[in-house]
Amino acid sequence: MAIAVAAVLVVVHLVDPTGVAGTVAFLLAIAGSGVAAWRGVARSTPGYRRFALLLATAVTSSALGGVVHGVLAATAPTPPAVSPADVLWVAGYGAVVLALLTLLHREGRRRWDAEGMIDAAVAFVAALLVLVELVFPELLGDTSRPLVARLVSVLYPVLDTVLLALVVRLVMRHRSRHGATVAIGVTCWLLADFGLLLVAPGGTLGRLFSAGWLVGTVLLAASTHVREPSDPASTAGTPREVTRRRVAVGLVPVLVPVGVQLGSAATGHRPNLVLLAVATVLLLGLTYLRAARLVAAGQAARDRMASRERHSAALAANSSDAVLVLDDRARPIGDGRRLAEFLGIDEDGLRGGNLSALVHPDDAAEATAVFGRALERPGAVLETTLRVRRGDGRPRWLSARLVNLLGHADVRGVVVNLGDITDRKRAEEELERLAFHDALTGLPNRALFRDRLRHALDRTGRGAAGPTVIFLDLDGFKLVNDSLGHDAGDELLREAARRLAAAVRRTDTVGRLGGDEFAVLIERGEHPAADAVATAERILRALSAPVTLSGGHRVTLTASLGVAVGDRDSTAAGLLRDADVAMYRAKADGKGRWVVHEPGMRTSAAARLELEADLRDALAAGRLRLLYQPVLDLETGLAAGFEALLRWQHPRHGTLAPDVFMGIAEETGLIVPIGRWVLMEATRTAARWRQAPGVRRPFTMAVNVSARQLESPGLLNDVADALDASGLEASALVLEMTETMLVRDQAEAAERLHALRRLGVRIAIDDFGTGFSSLSHLRRFPADILKIDRSFIATITGDAEVPELVLGLLDLGRRLRLEIVAEGVETDVQRRWLRDHRCDLAQGALFAPPLPARDAEALLVPMTPTGLTPS
Ligand code: C2E
Ligand code: CA
Ligand code: CA
Repeated sequence: MAIAVAAVLVVVHLVDPTGVAGTVAFLLAIAGSGVAAWRGVARSTPGYRRFALLLATAVTSSALGGVVHGVLAATAPTPPAVSPADVLWVAGYGAVVLALLTLLHREGRRRWDAEGMIDAAVAFVAALLVLVELVFPELLGDTSRPLVARLVSVLYPVLDTVLLALVVRLVMRHRSRHGATVAIGVTCWLLADFGLLLVAPGGTLGRLFSAGWLVGTVLLAASTHVREPSDPASTAGTPREVTRRRVAVGLVPVLVPVGVQLGSAATGHRPNLVLLAVATVLLLGLTYLRAARLVAAGQAARDRMASRERHSAALAANSSDAVLVLDDRARPIGDGRRLAEFLGIDEDGLRGGNLSALVHPDDAAEATAVFGRALERPGAVLETTLRVRRGDGRPRWLSARLVNLLGHADVRGVVVNLGDITDRKRAEEELERLAFHDALTGLPNRALFRDRLRHALDRTGRGAAGPTVIFLDLDGFKLVNDSLGHDAGDELLREAARRLAAAVRRTDTVGRLGGDEFAVLIERGEHPAADAVATAERILRALSAPVTLSGGHRVTLTASLGVAVGDRDSTAAGLLRDADVAMYRAKADGKGRWVVHEPGMRTSAAARLELEADLRDALAAGRLRLLYQPVLDLETGLAAGFEALLRWQHPRHGTLAPDVFMGIAEETGLIVPIGRWVLMEATRTAARWRQAPGVRRPFTMAVNVSARQLESPGLLNDVADALDASGLEASALVLEMTETMLVRDQAEAAERLHALRRLGVRIAIDDFGTGFSSLSHLRRFPADILKIDRSFIATITGDAEVPELVLGLLDLGRRLRLEIVAEGVETDVQRRWLRDHRCDLAQGALFAPPLPARDAEALLVPMTPTGLTPS
């Protein structure tokens, strides 16, 4: 709005400079400018206040000068040669000069840059030369005017020259909005002054030139209102690039003396040669200085760049990672030395190949895929792990981070950061191996064997013969173990394992299921039954050669083998059980032989059927009971909790341990009501102990839950009911799970475990290390407690040999922040070792066997001598 008004006033003044309307417009415009400038000061951008103040002063002073001049011209018949208007105008010029200097100082980040000052000096010298040589003689030579008037008339062009130099300086180095407006405003003034002086003192053109003064004043007033963008990077202070054009422009002033000489010649007066020479030398000197500084700055920039490159190279050379840059077809570009060194290959090996050729053949597809994804998503960071084969043939694991910077002008490639994670991978593989292999023989354990069996079954097509399982139990092993000792037993087991592995084909799997039980998995053959029988025969023959133990004893091994051939509908558990049943038949038939399972065989296990019928009654008849084995805090030696263990008082067979009947209970589904009873009984007992006089300490109660129970939808209710009925707080109840991997619907099981934890109940992974609790399951199934299986604890012997596996499991548990319980602690050596290795809790025959409720409760009363802490 203000601008539009100003524009209208300027035009009105232009059209009729001397008339009433034009004069009024002129007065309004300059008065408005003055007011606007002072308002601009009040609202000036922080840091630009002094600049605005000086400009406002300049505008006011010049405006007053204009008014005074106008009044004098209108009243006096002959205006004086020098008037108060000149004083005001000169003051106005001075204020603009100071404003420009303030701006330059501020935008040079509060320092005077030499380059800019040289530019200004060059402009000043060149312009001054023009004035002195071409204009001054005329102005000074007019002796008809008083000397003061002549001197004042010279003063204006000199001030103009100073302004010109400063504007050149401003435009050359900085681009701020303030700078731009003020530069245009001053340029208008300069055009007016020089135009009137050099081109046309009057006429239409002259009128146009004198309007420049008004426009300039308006613009200068406007400069005080300018706002800089808040983004500091885009404001002033960034020196402009040195371009060829700028260098050329910089050389132009050197030509000015020549031009002046020509101009003098044209106008016919004799040039002042001394002056020209001095000016030329000055201009050349300044231009040289400027060029020299440019060269020096260029060199400094190159030095900085080189230093930065050396810095990066040093970092890259000494880093454990490597960076690989690929073109759009995944071929390495750039210097391959460091990468070749990192990969341990020849630099030549890098040439020609692409990413998938560099990596391990098994990972080539992954490499191609991730590269493809990187191409699709520029800028996104993609991560993967890849193996590469080193020059020495050993595979190495690398973590790779890919970023597509093909569009980046300075990179033009896909950048791949490679890190060596071989050690970490090895450690993971080792832990995985520990969790899946039998410590004594190194054979796959039950978990891995079942896993392989399941996979073999999954691969079985419709109508095709499935895998075959041979279940093997050494005959008379218990006798050797008992008479010759555990070491002899172990030695015999290792030898049996060795012979078994040698007797089967490479594609078959031999596993140790526990104790003296082994199993062989034969994956699909042409004639499964015949293959299995041939294998069984080979095994019997291989075992039959006598074994000489290190104690000098010679023993002959025989085994009973049960063979079960699977089909598409078989389950791992079913097939193993069939082979087991057949193995029992082989034993019953006289041992040292094999028997193939037949469909009728299971039902003929009459004893089993009978047991099943008895178990159905047991619950109703109240023949089940619970024993409680304490879990000790190794630090204090006090009972921190108990595990409820089921016993069956069979009317004829006496007290039966769960091993005997748990299989039947699970198969028949009886485990569900039995489990419900166990939960009720165990929580009720624990709640009662809580109330008992003398019991102060908190303790936990652990209840075993089988996979089958976890699969039943009622478990959550059963647990909640038991807690409700007993009044036991949920945090005191621990549910122990073993074979979580065997449940059919893993996601559902995981969800159920989460739901249980939400009740406040804690989850323990039982028999960890033997069972089905691989690392990946630990991640999937929520757990609070890890119970290390007793077969691991048995490796703590106090001998020189370090029980690596236990160390590994303790470490793993700690890393996952789980509470750790050692199971089956039988010796004081084990207890001390565990305590020294910060295993807090332990359970085992050394402290107490599973006890009847009354005996267990006694452990909680402080004054009762416990006898649990062996001295
Ligand atoms: P588990 O959960 O591993 O229980 C520990 C077993 O180790 C118990 O056998 C216990 O008597 C035995 N034990 C304790 N200390 C030692 C020791 O120092 N050395 C040796 N060699 N053994 C020790 P138990 O009572 O025969 O139970 C066998 C398995 O039956 C249990 O193994 C558990 O998986 C299952 N079980 C027991 N009660 C229940 C139950 O109520 N429900 C379900 N689903 N399973 C149960
Ligand atoms: Ca248990
Ligand atoms: Ca256990």
